Amino acid sequence: MTTTIFAPILPADLDWQGDIPVARDYDDPYFSRQDGIAESRYVFLNGNRLPERFSTLSSGQLFVVGETGFGTGLNCLLAAQCFLQTAPPQAHLHLVSVEKHPLTLKDMRTALAHWPELASLANALLTEYPPATPGQHRLKLHPRISLTLLYGEAEQCWSLFQHPVDAWFLDGFAPACNPDMWQPALFAEMARLSRPGTTLATFTAAGFVRRGLQESGFVMNKNKGFGHKRHMLTGEIPHGSPASCPADSPSVIVVGAGLAGATTARALAERGCKVTVMDPDGIAQHASGNLAGVVYSTPSAHLTPQNRFYQQSYSHALRWLARQAFPRDKSDGQLNGVVQHYVDDKQQEKLTQALETGAWPSSLLIAQGEHAAELVGGGYLRPARWCQHLLDHDNIRIEKISVTAVHEGQPATVTLDNGQSRHADAIVLCTAANTTTLPGLQWLPLKLIRGQVSYCQATEASRLWQQAQCHGGYLTPALDDLHCVGATFDLHNDSPVTSEKDDQANLAQLERYLPRLWLELGGQQINIVDRRVAFRCQSLDFLPLCGPLPVATENPHRPATGLYLNLAHGSRGITGTPLCADLIADLICKHPLPVDQQLVDALAPERFIVRKRKKQSGWTP
Ligand code: SAM
Repeated sequence: MTTTIFAPILPADLDWQGDIPVARDYDDPYFSRQDGIAESRYVFLNGNRLPERFSTLSSGQLFVVGETGFGTGLNCLLAAQCFLQTAPPQAHLHLVSVEKHPLTLKDMRTALAHWPELASLANALLTEYPPATPGQHRLKLHPRISLTLLYGEAEQCWSLFQHPVDAWFLDGFAPACNPDMWQPALFAEMARLSRPGTTLATFTAAGFVRRGLQESGFVMNKNKGFGHKRHMLTGEIPHGSPASCPADSPSVIVVGAGLAGATTARALAERGCKVTVMDPDGIAQHASGNLAGVVYSTPSAHLTPQNRFYQQSYSHALRWLARQAFPRDKSDGQLNGVVQHYVDDKQQEKLTQALETGAWPSSLLIAQGEHAAELVGGGYLRPARWCQHLLDHDNIRIEKISVTAVHEGQPATVTLDNGQSRHADAIVLCTAANTTTLPGLQWLPLKLIRGQVSYCQATEASRLWQQAQCHGGYLTPALDDLHCVGATFDLHNDSPVTSEKDDQANLAQLERYLPRLWLELGGQQINIVDRRVAFRCQSLDFLPLCGPLPVATENPHRPATGLYLNLAHGSRGITGTPLCADLIADLICKHPLPVDQQLVDALAPERFIVRKRKKQSGWTP
């Protein structure tokens, strides 16, 4: 696969002509000036026979629509509405739509206000509407309807997408205004993602579009166009049966009840899987057990896979939290922004560049005076309560039990410390660095980083603090009248015992970077009432290990049947785990993935085997 370079996203430049949004760059309206809804239904829904195909889906079946040109989302919302009216309960719809220049939230609001009959779906879209950052964004319009937006150039985005599509909406602007959307290379990507029975529909009848699609493998038809338009096109990959996707929800064992385990269990439970979570210590007892954690990210203008994961997982985590209505109140925490103080020139430059290039748009990052930036929407929360909240679901069962080995297979198996075995269609290890104590998994390249956090008694002045502050370490507003000041970062100490020296290091860092807040907390008289040591689990390249567990002893390696990893979230557990949970759940349920193939590869545990074997041929663990 060629390396894809991601660039910041420029929002759409609209000219509102009455109620009709027109794109200045293309000089073309987003939908019909006569009757947008009627034309969309006629061309895209009926052109793909969606009402009929939705109504014949079986329970649990998934139908995937792909669209070129999300625009105002009108086509997608109409497809969602039609699905809710015609599909059987328990069937799923996944809409996937590419967009190079997303409308701003404000323009989106104005555009969607014209369709009162779509109000509830439109509100869901507006609530979840993602920031203008490149790559994929996963939204939920309804418990049974997902939307994955691919922000970027159409051909590039689809080339990084892997899931088969059942029906295509070709809705770029008119070919004469926007030839980029009607290229053979894009048609070839569509054909790659189609299977027998996949259909397409488009408003245009241009000959070169019809021929291009035909050459890619679609059998094309010219049909009567909408209203006064003479023609439109439909197409189909021949010899097909209707959409077929696995209908059964797999049973899953999730090992570990920290942030990674709780989010993974929730993502699976919401897809209908029966999930058993196993942890001998109960919920959030290890690195996820600190009094408070911060929802934050590390912005950068360089859109490498690593930085894109940090960015995408941040906005994804915010959508999860909003959807789950957590924090429920101030005693759980607050999502009111995180202040990132510039601790040196290098960090200041990095954040300033992220702001100035537009790589981090103002919906995610804003300057706060000369010495700090604010991560918009971030905040602080109690990780253990978040885990409990996530695990409270009818499809999730929790067992205080210890797993001593895992075995691939259909079903896969865990061995318990009492010698018993349990089986499931899939097993996900969310066991951080403990994973390397399981037989055969010592090779996983994980390191432990000791961190001590100090809990300081609130003062009259500090009780007024509202926002979490990051300054190398972090400082949170009071929970239970205590502030978290932390955390130390120690690669060479594996002692679980707390130390006075580490408390002093936490306070010294606070005094150095945030002297005013240090004073408000009591200065030399700061009262440390408790402290806690935990171990962050980190990979060698700082990204989590999320994906199928590879069989490292075989060359070439292959995925172990039914075994998955979701671990090594370092100090970004609250932020990184929701996206990784959706990735694992979609891999297991065979749904479209929430990240593009570049990020799938960057997160895949097998990357370490690939790298090592490249360096020294013949490596065995
Ligand atoms: N389907 C939309 C709706 O329901 O509102 C209308 C789509 S509008 C006619 C065409 C869309 O394609 C615009 O939003 C435009 O920004 C997008 N677009 C144009 N060229 C593109 C490209 N090369 N890659 C991705 N999207 C593109």
